[in-house]
Amino acid sequence: MKPMGPLPPEFADQRDVLVIAGREAPAWAEDHGTPVFVIDRAIVAARVARFRTAFPNVDLHYAIKANPLPALLDAVAPLVDGLDVASGGELERAVRVKPADAISFAGPGKRDAELAAAIRSGVILNLESEGEAARALSLGQAIGVRPRVAVRVNPDLELRGSGMRMGGRPSPFGVDADRAAALVRVLVAAGADWRGFHVYAGSQALSADALIEAQAATLALTACLSEEAGAAPPLVNLGGGFGVPYFSGDVALDVEAVGEGLAGALASRPAVLADTRFAIELGRWLVAEAGVYLTRVVDRKRSGGETFLIVDGGLHHQLAATGNFGTVVRRNYPLAVATRIGSETVEEVSVVGPLCTPLDRLGDHVGLPHAEPGDLIAVFLAGAYGATASPTAFLGHPAAAEVVA
Ligand SMILES: *Cc1c(COP(=O)(O)O)cnc(C)c1O
Repeated sequence: MKPMGPLPPEFADQRDVLVIAGREAPAWAEDHGTPVFVIDRAIVAARVARFRTAFPNVDLHYAIKANPLPALLDAVAPLVDGLDVASGGELERAVRVKPADAISFAGPGKRDAELAAAIRSGVILNLESEGEAARALSLGQAIGVRPRVAVRVNPDLELRGSGMRMGGRPSPFGVDADRAAALVRVLVAAGADWRGFHVYAGSQALSADALIEAQAATLALTACLSEEAGAAPPLVNLGGGFGVPYFSGDVALDVEAVGEGLAGALASRPAVLADTRFAIELGRWLVAEAGVYLTRVVDRKRSGGETFLIVDGGLHHQLAATGNFGTVVRRNYPLAVATRIGSETVEEVSVVGPLCTPLDRLGDHVGLPHAEPGDLIAVFLAGAYGATASPTAFLGHPAAAEVVA
């Protein structure tokens, strides 16, 4: 038997029939069919409240690529100070729910049409290169709008222990730290509305110490760059990288410790940052644990002495749970039989989807209560990097329903 990750706290103590957002799982399946993603907005709100308490003087941004579902954006936008987008498509969704100057647009390879749309609407462009900066300036002139810009820095630091490192090495993301101040001078001289710096050192960190260290290093770095540029930044976006426990042995991040560490670093920050606002941008930490993917058992079969539960959902909706989205070793997300949650494990099964590829495996040799065709399997941690991070067109199965309640 292979272990599964821990159930999110809101579901960990449930017994018998899984309840999501106040309703039993079979009711959601009845109303919307299967597979269905159900996202509990109260859990998102609880994460926001926890952040507010831990970081009283820091802005909270939602990185919408984690889950850009419009109904979720409607729920999250009023709770956060800003939205971070990474494409023209996300930009269109964001400007519907948030004022433009609370939206920033990062990501390499922004096309002219995307830059122009951002400049026209007044969204802050997190510039990823000198070339992109030059295009933004000339587009601003052509349109007759002063572009709002920040410089994304490829920092000479790494977020230790993060699932994905995005700094401290040759990178498509951001301008190398040793050239960032020069770019700020160019932008200011050209009359752009310079809003500050954006530094993103990594994702999926569960170590408070690593985050505290990265945030302190980011403060020091942006202070140095500001001195060098001769300009105080209105905003420093410190990145994010707060992780969630997906796998056996993962321990939830001590967010309060990170907040204390940052408060200490901010209290003694260099004078050039005295009037700067600070922001943290979070994706998965805000939404992952709020979502459950419900899929129905279609068939139960034995092969080679093993039992397979074949379900109607799979990697075409929830790629990450099958271990095919940025993980090196395949490990099990937490799963449950939704009508027997908390019941004793009675058998070892593999939960597989309907796609004709051995990669389509939601649970590998997991221990579950007995399940039969018609039963519902719940896949937890489905609120982030679900449908939009999966190959939904692969094999032509229908899209999953997505509900925010
Ligand atoms: C992907 C991304 C995020 C969100 O990452 P999470 O791990 O979901 O929190 C935030 N900022 C930037 C720049 C990103 O690329």
